[in-house]
Amino acid sequence: MGYDFQEIQVRFIKIKENIENAMKKVGRTTPPTIIAVTKTHGPELFEIIKRLGIRDVGENYVQEMIKKMEGDENFRWHFIGNLQRNKAKYIVGKVEIIHGVDSIKVVEEIDKRAKAKCVIQNIMLQINQGEETKGGIKKEELPYFVEEINRYTSVNLVGLMALPPYFDEPEKSRPYFIEIRELLNYINDKGLYKKPLTELSMGMSSDYMVAVEEGATYLRIGTALFGIRKK
Ligand SMILES: *Cc1c(COP(=O)(O)O)cnc(C)c1O
Repeated sequence: MGYDFQEIQVRFIKIKENIENAMKKVGRTTPPTIIAVTKTHGPELFEIIKRLGIRDVGENYVQEMIKKMEGDENFRWHFIGNLQRNKAKYIVGKVEIIHGVDSIKVVEEIDKRAKAKCVIQNIMLQINQGEETKGGIKKEELPYFVEEINRYTSVNLVGLMALPPYFDEPEKSRPYFIEIRELLNYINDKGLYKKPLTELSMGMSSDYMVAVEEGATYLRIGTALFGIRKK
């Protein structure tokens, strides 16, 4: 399948404009990092992403990701899917951040693999925000969970990830983003982790502007950049 550079470039410029406007609206000065979500897209797309000057890319599936990563030196890779414990070994030390970690067993495995490779692996925790949202750590268990992570010295917790249910109306995501930010502040106020958490991974194609207003530091954007996925 061919990709049209100009078409994607126009979309990218529009997204950056929208982000700037959202920042102005709330008086924010530091822009979020855009993660280009490339799941299901072919290798031809990566040349375009590079030309656009995008450094961060996100993938959901371990097998697909490691294939695309082979020999790559252009990008910072983010794992944004649900990581199974037995797959951690393939990505630890190769990805910038593992977003969406939601079990201590997985943290333990990441820590073990990171130690073996003499690296520190950045992770974020995914929070369960009600019945409609899939996976994630229960809010009540989050303080305990965060304190536990202090024990794993080759894991570096950097923040929280939100994955609200899909809404047609972006405004409906706002309470979910606010909640995640408040949980992050709570963790920091109580000093539950050995250092302050700074990152909020939230906002996708449909609601990234709202996420910027609510303090997202990483946006995960696929469709708004590359069009509807075929698979
Ligand atoms: C696919 C995916 C995205 C990107 O979704 P779009 O709506 O295409 O921008 C972001 N985050 C996660 C976790 C995803 O699985």
